[in-house]
Amino acid sequence: MKKKISLHVKCPHCRKSLMDNEHLLHGEPSIKLNIVTPEDRGILYICSIYECFDHETNIKLLKDAAIDAYCPECNKELLVNEECKICGAPMISFVLQTGGRVNICARNGCSNHYIAFQEISTELSRFYEEFGE
Ligand SMILES: [Zn+2]
Ligand SMILES: [Zn+2]
Ligand SMILES: [Zn+2]
Repeated sequence: MKKKISLHVKCPHCRKSLMDNEHLLHGEPSIKLNIVTPEDRGILYICSIYECFDHETNIKLLKDAAIDAYCPECNKELLVNEECKICGAPMISFVLQTGGRVNICARNGCSNHYIAFQEISTELSRFYEEFGE
């Protein structure tokens, strides 16, 4: 059985944790973001389990709508200058507590997300030390 990996992510700007221990999704702290759509603004909670990324929000998210995401701590934008390889929407980028980054597509309904390690060997081994198989 593959163990579920819960990602703990930080803001790439202020390095504060984005995990919300008060708002659990699938039993794990969720990733909390401030979001803006063309119609509204609100809060988005993303499931932190890798390859799940279910989410809840307090506003209405249209299917296929691309969102703008901001850090709730420092209010800086979390979109990066990188296009989703599936749908072309911008990507949202976080820093992993263990090192490396996790990027997710900003378009509601697109399932593209991946983990990128800059220093593959050290960061990957730290990642597996922490989350183990
Ligand atoms: Zn989940
Ligand atoms: Zn921040
Ligand atoms: Zn996409």
